[in-house]
Amino acid sequence: MGLTTYFRKKSPWLLHFNSGGCNGCDIELLAALTPRYDVERFGVKLKGSPRHADILVVTGPVTKQTRERLIRVYEQMPEPKAVVALGSCPASGCVFHDCYNTLAPLDKHIPVAAYVPGCPPRPEAIIFALVKVLEGMGK
Ligand code: SF4
Repeated sequence: MGLTTYFRKKSPWLLHFNSGGCNGCDIELLAALTPRYDVERFGVKLKGSPRHADILVVTGPVTKQTRERLIRVYEQMPEPKAVVALGSCPASGCVFHDCYNTLAPLDKHIPVAAYVPGCPPRPEAIIFALVKVLEGMGK
């Protein structure tokens, strides 16, 4: 494992992208970042720029409107990087399944390291997925 990967694993920074969801998953992600769960003690921080992010957390069913921006944001992230699909929307479209404007699943557009099922998933499940993704990073 390279030094850069080592430091990223020790302090992974997240970028959150809503690709057209209902905001339920976004609220659970924010709950996971609050002092109640305190993921910052593991170095996990939310960042605003893809150039500083290690893990892209995607919510929503990937709408036609957001697809291009999603791919651009993913391409701007430095390697090694990983994508976590949060909630049932990026996996199957969930309540937006078969809508005229949605393009789920997410892995048709960018590689996905982990899916976190649920509508929305609990913060504990989100933290578990982040840990699993970090274990596999740089291998
Ligand atoms: S999975 Fe459920 S809670 Fe999450 S964005 Fe989709 S509809 Fe909303």
